[in-house]
Amino acid sequence: MKNHKDYILQTYNRYDISFTSGDGVYLYDTNGKKYIDMLAGIGVCSLGYSDKELIKILTEQSKKIWHTSNLFNIKTQEELAYEIISSLFPGKVFFSNSGAEANEAAIKFARLYGNKVLNGAYKIITATNSFHGRTYATISATGQEKVKKDFEPLCPGFIFVEYNNFEELDTQLKNNDVVGVMLEPIQGEGGIITGSNEYFQLIRKTTREQNKLLILDEVQSGVGRTGDFYTFQGLGIQPDIFTSAKGIGNGLPIGATIIREEISDIMGAGKHGSTFGGNPLVTSVALEVVKRIKSQKFLKNVREKGKYFKEQLTKLQLLYPDIILEIRGKGLMLGIVLSVTCNDIVNKSLSKGLIINCTANKVIRFLPPLIISKEEINKGISILSQILAEIKEKNK
Ligand code: PLP
Repeated sequence: MKNHKDYILQTYNRYDISFTSGDGVYLYDTNGKKYIDMLAGIGVCSLGYSDKELIKILTEQSKKIWHTSNLFNIKTQEELAYEIISSLFPGKVFFSNSGAEANEAAIKFARLYGNKVLNGAYKIITATNSFHGRTYATISATGQEKVKKDFEPLCPGFIFVEYNNFEELDTQLKNNDVVGVMLEPIQGEGGIITGSNEYFQLIRKTTREQNKLLILDEVQSGVGRTGDFYTFQGLGIQPDIFTSAKGIGNGLPIGATIIREEISDIMGAGKHGSTFGGNPLVTSVALEVVKRIKSQKFLKNVREKGKYFKEQLTKLQLLYPDIILEIRGKGLMLGIVLSVTCNDIVNKSLSKGLIINCTANKVIRFLPPLIISKEEINKGISILSQILAEIKEKNK
């Protein structure tokens, strides 16, 4: 075989590293080099690598049955739906295989709702700088030009407003052709930008008064990532629809679209589907992941470690105020805004055995496994500190 570039469509700028195994928050590459992982496969491997219980469940299930299709009942899928929704509000779940698919289902649902309940209203308000996925409808819903460029004409019916600006959103919401709003509680790909409680509470109140939909994209922020099971709980609101993916399967592909009970019948038989969505293999593992993460003890721990992590980043900012401009985020979904582009820091980190990520050009994003310990946080911070010291020295 020649270089991977000869066979793999180059949709990603990949680092020249390949991991062969993992344990807890550590990954090992083909040369046996050890890395501390503060990215978790982009917010996916929340219980880390090689979790014994997950391996046991996966192995046992793999000997029983992997896939049956959704033409038949799937017990673990039903149990997983119950685990996701039972502590939140009455609702029903549709399972797919990714975040983009979860959002596609939400967008399709909004179209159905508009046609059946709101006289054909079809426009969805989303935010500038948002990210909702890479399918045709979800790039159309995404508020970032770089994602949409050269794919025009896009799917019609999306209106973009500034994030965290209620007045602008409210003006658009009044239009009769608007069916609802779709937002991330914290913009992840956009650079870890937190939506305020007041903003979301006002949107909830207004959409409810107008019988319009509030759709929350919790693909990145959900499943314990910010210290609540879902971030909207901390915002003090309940959406009509929310989407979830990444962290549910700890690496097995799964997406979920959750719809409030009273309106869920609109999406009836034949209106949507997925061959693989929620299959026995994936849902048996996801069931354990969700059960474990949603426990109050686990979530409290995430909040504590998130607070600790933020404190350590604040200390770094005091040491390097010219490089670190701002610290953002919640729980273990954190970002530091830099005065310089962050690719160089990410590359230096990788060479020193720390995996971090750069988003929105100047934001270093931390999405570590939720099981990370304070000692492991310290290890990562110490590597980052060394790199910042080197940069400061060089810029003298
Ligand atoms: N929505 C949000 C908020 C995301 O962060 C992402 C991925 O980063 C997606 C949707 C798309 O998810 P996926 O890559 O699983 O399709």
